[in-house]
Amino acid sequence: MTTPSSNSPRKVTIIGSGPAGLTSAIYAARANLAPLLFEGVMRGGIAGGQLMITNDVENFPGFPEKISGPELMKAVREQALRQGAELMAEDVNKVDFSARPFRLWVGEEMTLHTSETVIISTGAQARWLGIESENTLKGRGVSACAVCDGAFFRNQDVVVVGGGDTAMEESMYLSGICRTVTLVHRKESFRASKTMQARVLSNPKIRVVYNSVVAEVLDVSKGEVTGARLKDVVTGKERLVEATGIFVAIGHHPNTDLFAGQIDLHDNGYIRTVPGTAQTSVPGVFAAGDVQDFIYRQAVTAAGSGCMAALEAERWLAANGAH
Ligand code: NAP
Repeated sequence: MTTPSSNSPRKVTIIGSGPAGLTSAIYAARANLAPLLFEGVMRGGIAGGQLMITNDVENFPGFPEKISGPELMKAVREQALRQGAELMAEDVNKVDFSARPFRLWVGEEMTLHTSETVIISTGAQARWLGIESENTLKGRGVSACAVCDGAFFRNQDVVVVGGGDTAMEESMYLSGICRTVTLVHRKESFRASKTMQARVLSNPKIRVVYNSVVAEVLDVSKGEVTGARLKDVVTGKERLVEATGIFVAIGHHPNTDLFAGQIDLHDNGYIRTVPGTAQTSVPGVFAAGDVQDFIYRQAVTAAGSGCMAALEAERWLAANGAH
């Protein structure tokens, strides 16, 4: 059987349609590189990225009155199209970066596309607890990003779930905004770094509940968060905590399954880039946004790194006689 194939190699192909991918499309289009961007359908969460599940964005520069995540992404997408980027609503299902031009197999038909450079911006997804009440109240008091949503809970009581560095950081951040923070962890000790733990444990606004899990987010019948039903995993006892916000901080996982064995990944699965650049271990393959960033994870940093990836791709093409 022959594989269906697209035409001659693209100069730049971008995988992923969050702020990183679309920003790299804007820059690559303006550099006359006619980029093709695969937006994704089923793989890697929702097309448009994590902002598509964010209600209000108040920290993206340029929107003093705030903007909704989907509205922001719609505008960035339109901007990419207007600059001449080609967008395809397809999943990339296989890649081969072992030789140039790089090969990408796309969609159910596994249509072969080839490209001189590739920008990976497939993002990461927050891990969730996986309980029904959490899912129902997502965006209505349940969040996975304190920096994005914390300000909506000013002087209110919130719960943070997790025991890693993210949970410590989210708790500290929220303690500066909220009245109280109840940090719920399923074990009797944290895995976070000792410094971060020390900061949390000495913060009078943060109360820690160890050995406990969130059995239910309340109150689905009201359509908003009023608290959490916690279960002690040792004694089996339950207790209620009143809160208007629940921040799930149990980690993220990067959308890098597609690239395992093709480029170097960190031990935690994120793409390894040369520090200060978007360059991956394969020359001509660049990575931008949350797929390579487990520290900042902001829309604005993702957009910034998308710009870097496009500029680096352009320079790489010029240096290699392809532009
Ligand atoms: P993490 O280190 O994987 O920690 C996840 C935490 O969530 C763990 O305490 C885990 O519990 C808990 N957890 C996982 N699944 C759970 C579930 N279903 N129910 C309840 N609890 C659950 O993730 P992270 O904190 O996001 O950190 C990821 C990486 O980024 C780490 O390498 C971290 O050091 C780094 N990071 C660094 C900084 C910084 O340096 N400023 C900030 C943030 C993150 P167990 O402990 O029981 O497994």
